[in-house]
Amino acid sequence: MADYAKPLPYPSPETQPFWDACKRHELSLPYCPTCERFFFYPRKFCPECFNWDIEWRTCSGRGTLYTFAIQFRPQMPGFTPPYVTAIVQLDEGPRLMTNLVGIEASPEAIRCDIPVEVVWEDVTDEITLPFFRPVAS
Ligand SMILES: [Zn+2]
Repeated sequence: MADYAKPLPYPSPETQPFWDACKRHELSLPYCPTCERFFFYPRKFCPECFNWDIEWRTCSGRGTLYTFAIQFRPQMPGFTPPYVTAIVQLDEGPRLMTNLVGIEASPEAIRCDIPVEVVWEDVTDEITLPFFRPVAS
C-alpha cells in the first residue's frame, strides 16, 4: 500500500462520509428523504429540493456500465495502460465515475449496459477506492 503512486482523493467535509464508508467496504451515498432519492456527488443539501436534512444510506454496490473509455496513454505516473475509465449507472439512481476492472481492456470485451458490482482497493491506510467489475454470469 505504501507504494501507491497515483493521485489520491482529498476528502472534504461533504465527501468524508463517502470515504469513511469506502474504508468499511460499503458504498454509501447521500439520500434526500423528501425527494426519496439518492444523489451524487456528495453535497450538504439535496440538489433537487435544497433540503439540508439529508441522510447517508448504504447502497447495493450494483449497477450497469453506462459508458467507458479505454486509456492507452499514461496520463500521470503510476498508471499502467491500458486501463478502463467508466461511468457506472448505480441501481439506486446516481452515476459514479470509476475504473472498470476484472475484464480485458479491449473494445471487443466491454459493452455498455453490462451488469457490474463494486470491488474495493485499499490503496493507503486512509483511502479505499471503489472500482467496478462485471458481475459473474
Ligand atoms: Zn430533495
